[in-house]
Amino acid sequence: MLKWGVASAAVAGMPRLHAAATSYTLPTLGYDPAALEPHIDAATMNLHHGKHHAAYIAKMNEALSANPAVATKTLEELMTSMADIKDTAVQTTLRNNGGGHWNHSFFWNIMAPAAESGKPSDALLKAINDSFGSLEQMKTAFTDAAMKRFGSGWAWLIVKDGKLKITSTPNQDNPLMKGLVADADLGKPILGLDVWEHAYYLHYQNRRADYAAAWWNIVNWDAANKHFGA
Ligand code: MN
Repeated sequence: MLKWGVASAAVAGMPRLHAAATSYTLPTLGYDPAALEPHIDAATMNLHHGKHHAAYIAKMNEALSANPAVATKTLEELMTSMADIKDTAVQTTLRNNGGGHWNHSFFWNIMAPAAESGKPSDALLKAINDSFGSLEQMKTAFTDAAMKRFGSGWAWLIVKDGKLKITSTPNQDNPLMKGLVADADLGKPILGLDVWEHAYYLHYQNRRADYAAAWWNIVNWDAANKHFGA
């Protein structure tokens, strides 16, 4: 479903998602950890990337090394076939930690320093206008989904059958997890916002709304355009 091929391979910081691997490594950020300030602070980025994301990868690798049949899948295949893993303990571990790896890899890539944020392509803007009325209305609906996600999770802008939709998932679930996420929430991610407290608490404390509003300043629209166009 999701095709991250040649186009996104040029985007710094993305892991090699199509390589079948038994062991994943932490992707490097495509920018300095301080480059998203003041919207996301360097301390949050260092912890979030260097500790939280790294921990998901370590736990994912541990589960994969104990389950060689699953380890032959690409990261994308692992997401879309997660529901087929029969051992529920293994499935839960990979759902949380493999999902964490996919989601965070996507997240770093969908952000850029404010000066390099860019704008939606004509094609993406047309789709946004068709589905939501305007870019501002899409942002409002997306932020609303981010605010309504109780506890930890993600807000998403997805495309399915050419139509855009906003949704959210709990924990480290994502819109690729067929059979685990409701069919209505499945699609190809265009944008994704981490609303776990670890993503914003150091700088924003409990003010998720301020974090979600500031985040629009550092959306990497070039990456979003590629996801939409791929
Ligand atoms: Mn996170």
